[in-house]
Amino acid sequence: MGKAIDPVCGMDVDLSRAIWKKDVGTRTFYFCSRVCRHTFLENLDEMIFLESMKVAKPRSRSGPVSNETAKEGYES
Ligand SMILES: [Zn+2]
Repeated sequence: MGKAIDPVCGMDVDLSRAIWKKDVGTRTFYFCSRVCRHTFLENLDEMIFLESMKVAKPRSRSGPVSNETAKEGYES
Protein backbone atom coordinates (compact mmCIF):
# COMPACT_ATOMS: atom_id res chain seq x y z
CA MET A 1 0.00 0.00 0.00
CA GLY A 2 1.74 3.08 1.18
CA LYS A 3 4.75 4.17 3.04
CA ALA A 4 5.34 6.65 5.73
CA ILE A 5 8.49 8.27 6.94
CA ASP A 6 9.60 7.58 10.43
CA PRO A 7 9.86 11.14 11.76
CA VAL A 8 12.62 10.17 14.14
CA CYS A 9 15.17 8.38 11.99
CA GLY A 10 13.78 9.14 8.53
CA MET A 11 13.36 5.53 7.51
CA ASP A 12 10.60 4.36 5.23
CA VAL A 13 7.94 2.50 7.11
CA ASP A 14 5.74 0.06 5.28
CA LEU A 15 2.23 0.93 6.33
CA SER A 16 0.93 -2.58 5.90
CA ARG A 17 3.45 -3.82 8.42
CA ALA A 18 3.69 -0.83 10.68
CA ILE A 19 3.04 -1.82 14.23
CA TRP A 20 4.57 1.19 15.90
CA LYS A 21 2.43 4.19 15.42
CA LYS A 22 1.00 7.14 17.20
CA ASP A 23 -2.04 9.23 16.48
CA VAL A 24 -1.56 12.91 17.07
CA GLY A 25 -4.63 14.94 16.37
CA THR A 26 -5.69 14.06 12.86
CA ARG A 27 -2.33 12.64 11.88
CA THR A 28 -0.79 9.26 12.38
CA PHE A 29 2.93 8.84 12.70
CA TYR A 30 4.63 5.56 11.97
CA PHE A 31 7.88 4.28 13.35
CA CYS A 32 10.33 1.58 12.42
CA SER A 33 10.79 0.48 15.98
CA ARG A 34 9.69 0.90 19.51
CA VAL A 35 12.80 2.92 20.19
CA CYS A 36 11.86 5.51 17.59
CA ARG A 37 8.32 5.66 18.87
CA HIS A 38 9.63 6.17 22.36
CA THR A 39 11.96 8.91 21.20
CA PHE A 40 9.10 10.57 19.41
CA LEU A 41 6.89 10.50 22.47
CA GLU A 42 9.69 11.86 24.61
CA ASN A 43 10.00 14.83 22.28
CA LEU A 44 6.41 15.05 21.19
CA ASP A 45 6.04 18.81 21.39
CA GLU A 46 9.20 19.42 19.45
CA MET A 47 8.38 16.78 16.88
CA ILE A 48 4.95 18.21 16.27
CA PHE A 49 6.43 21.63 15.90
CA LEU A 50 9.01 20.43 13.39
CA GLU A 51 6.37 18.56 11.45
CA SER A 52 4.14 21.58 11.27
CA MET A 53 7.06 23.63 10.01
CA LYS A 54 7.80 21.06 7.32
CA VAL A 55 4.27 20.77 6.11
CA ALA A 56 3.66 24.50 6.20
CA LYS A 57 0.07 24.18 5.20
CA PRO A 58 -2.29 27.07 5.33
CA ARG A 59 -4.40 26.77 8.38
CA SER A 60 -7.59 25.34 7.03
CA ARG A 61 -9.55 23.64 9.65
CA SER A 62 -11.63 21.18 7.76
CA GLY A 63 -12.74 19.25 10.73
CA PRO A 64 -15.16 16.41 10.50
CA VAL A 65 -18.76 17.41 10.23
CA SER A 66 -20.35 16.79 13.54
CA ASN A 67 -22.72 13.98 12.91
CA GLU A 68 -24.78 14.40 15.95
CA THR A 69 -27.81 12.30 15.42
CA ALA A 70 -30.79 14.48 15.86
CA LYS A 71 -33.17 12.49 17.89
CA GLU A 72 -36.64 13.31 16.92
CA GLY A 73 -39.78 11.95 18.34
CA TYR A 74 -38.80 11.98 21.93
CA GLU A 75 -41.07 9.73 23.87
CA SER A 76 -41.46 9.71 27.56
ZN1 LIG B 1 13.11 4.75 13.16
